[in-house]
Amino acid sequence: MQQKKQMFGTNGVRGVIGERMTPDLVLRVGAALGSMRKGTIAIGRDTRTSGEALAHALKAGLLMTGCNVVDMGILPTPALQYIIKTSGFDGGAMITASHNPPEYNGVKIIEADGTEMSDEEIVLLEERFFSNTFEAAAWDGVGTETAAPDRVEEYIQAIVDHFPAGIGKGMTVVVDPGSGPAALTTPTILSRMGCKVHTINARLDGTFPGRMPEPTPEGLQPLSEMVVATGADFGVAHDGDADRAVFVDNKGRYIEENYEFGLVEDYVCGRNSGGLVVTPVATSRLIKDIAEKHGCTIDYTPVGSIYVARRMIELIGQGKKVSFGGEGNGGLIYADHQFCRDGGMTAAMMVAVLAGHRDKKLSEILDELPAYHLIKEKHHTKDPSALVRAVEEAFSAETIEKIDGIKIVRDDVWALVRASGTEPMVRIMIESRDPGIADAMYREILQAVGHT
Ligand code: MG
Repeated sequence: MQQKKQMFGTNGVRGVIGERMTPDLVLRVGAALGSMRKGTIAIGRDTRTSGEALAHALKAGLLMTGCNVVDMGILPTPALQYIIKTSGFDGGAMITASHNPPEYNGVKIIEADGTEMSDEEIVLLEERFFSNTFEAAAWDGVGTETAAPDRVEEYIQAIVDHFPAGIGKGMTVVVDPGSGPAALTTPTILSRMGCKVHTINARLDGTFPGRMPEPTPEGLQPLSEMVVATGADFGVAHDGDADRAVFVDNKGRYIEENYEFGLVEDYVCGRNSGGLVVTPVATSRLIKDIAEKHGCTIDYTPVGSIYVARRMIELIGQGKKVSFGGEGNGGLIYADHQFCRDGGMTAAMMVAVLAGHRDKKLSEILDELPAYHLIKEKHHTKDPSALVRAVEEAFSAETIEKIDGIKIVRDDVWALVRASGTEPMVRIMIESRDPGIADAMYREILQAVGHT
């Protein structure tokens, strides 16, 4: 068993400013990264008020270890990842706390190929961090900094060029970047595709005056109202760093993210049939239904976009065809674009989805998809792994998958029981087309662990 990450989670290191997250911590993350990835490092940040202070700290750590730094300023995480991948940088770092509230911030490390740093490499980075093992440069080896605030254009045009010119002509869309960096990208992408674009919460503002960085149905109520008021075809919103996109349909209804995944999957796999669709074990069976419709096969991973991205790369390396990948939270990964979640690309994809159904409204396309009933519960316990083992024993006669926690798979229902990595609790997910069958399964699990 390899050593586990201590400080970094599945999406970088994060914390509340002035508590866990300080310039000192970020400086040492920069020094550790600079000691491991010599060369030129690209950095960016989201719109959080603490972003500039942390950027200076990160740059100080990188420069003192001899790295040169190119500061891209405010931009979406996938834009930074795209620029790193296509411009030959030696690595990168994004200052963001993604969907967390405004008082949070954090750092996500990016490799030269644009992917997030693997768990194995993060463990090495943490070893340097905790032991203060930094390779400080001498006076004549300290790095230099360059500002490059306008490079987001490369990312915008790459997405636009992915689609036939003018594919969005005749469509009206409303974009809610949530005061985050997508304000610089998604409205331009959609307008260059031919859409008429309205915006809400489109001014960069780290106090997030319109809504919180997590795009919830409640927070997106003004977006829904604007979609209905303007007669728009759909509304799109992003989380705080725009690697995710979520949608409201033409009736202003929030689209559950597994259904968003399914809509885009139907489009992508329709043009790239017969390959693998890579997704975590927690994703709706809808994703499997749609994959099979296009002759695609599901490949399940542990929960976390980095595992999906790395698995896609691994499968392609084995000569296998990978059609699509993503999570059921609005984080979708396009193998012919880049191996990370990309909210701007997903917004553009929804235009293509609609363009493929010229005779139908988005609400009509959605209503034709099968309805799945999902139960999502947290169960607090002192010993989460003991509870997961108890479930495994109780259901040992059934089909069980152990990719991440325990997944019990029946024809008409599945249940996933996973220990939380950070809190004393287990997460339980159950899905069926029949709410009664899902409820019964939940009771069976509670009974198995002695909590009826
Ligand atoms: Mg995010």
